[in-house]
Amino acid sequence: MKYTKLFCLLVLVSSCAQQDDIDQLTIYTSRQPQLIEPLLEQYKALTGIDVALLSGNATQLMERIIVEGDATEADIFMTVDAGVLWQAGEKGIFENIESETLSQNIPQHLRDADGKWFGLSKRARTIVYSSDAVNSDDLSSYEDLALPKWNNKLCLRTSTKVYNRSLIASMIDAQGLDHSKMVVQGWVNNLATEVFSSDTQVLKAVSAGQCAVTIVNTYYLARLADDPQYSNLKLYWANQKSRGTHVNISGAGVVKSSKNKDAATKLLEWLSSEEAQESYADANKEFPVKSGIQVGETLKGWGEFKEDLISVEKLGSLQKEAVLLAQQAGYK
Ligand code: FE
Repeated sequence: MKYTKLFCLLVLVSSCAQQDDIDQLTIYTSRQPQLIEPLLEQYKALTGIDVALLSGNATQLMERIIVEGDATEADIFMTVDAGVLWQAGEKGIFENIESETLSQNIPQHLRDADGKWFGLSKRARTIVYSSDAVNSDDLSSYEDLALPKWNNKLCLRTSTKVYNRSLIASMIDAQGLDHSKMVVQGWVNNLATEVFSSDTQVLKAVSAGQCAVTIVNTYYLARLADDPQYSNLKLYWANQKSRGTHVNISGAGVVKSSKNKDAATKLLEWLSSEEAQESYADANKEFPVKSGIQVGETLKGWGEFKEDLISVEKLGSLQKEAVLLAQQAGYK
């Protein structure tokens, strides 16, 4: 960096000035630091820019950015789930960013239309079953799990988790409130146990035979994939004959009150690049948002799947309806 500064001074290229002023960026994030730290090290080696992480709960970090206002250190807010990103957008945390690189690397349905936030990895939420109890030919869709044939065989994570709210939001978008409510009521009727507080717990319940089938984010299954104890857990891509499997994102946006918006945008651009996408998605066994990127063995083994192409922004805007619907259907 020092040499570049010197070079800029010598040749008096004014455009160097802004870049050179920056040797640190700060990301406020609800993601686990160990998932992103290796990538940020790589970025530092490339650019000399040190990226500091402030980790915490998404809601608290959003509040903090608002309270800190112009004094905030946050250049980027990074979190998971379109529901949360959408909320951050509504709270006015993000700057609208126009970037050709981001537009090219990230499919349109995985980013905000106004450039407030961008998906950086894809997370699929689909059906997982126990091969001891279920023949995959009997599975088809999220909606099918509401039928009486699954009575006492279904386990679910609580509807208070944003992942399930977003899944319900995608159903509301695809088939309306009334039909979606019927489906969720059917799920509740089919529950073999109380709802669980984590995807991992629910997977373990399926493996142990407490129930036969569930709906989880695939990276939780990937984490158990190498453990022979859970070898009876199998993935099924839901809704392949209709709208496709529900897909959500982890993502980030540039903070409106950041003083380093250009540099923050460049970091997001790099995170969407081929170079970063492979390791970013692989760190948490998620899927890259950029097409043509290799995935690891476990993910490859699950095969290609058709994904629901609903704009994830929609998943955010339908959160309230989803929460209300879950309450009305008795889905705790
Ligand atoms: Fe998760």
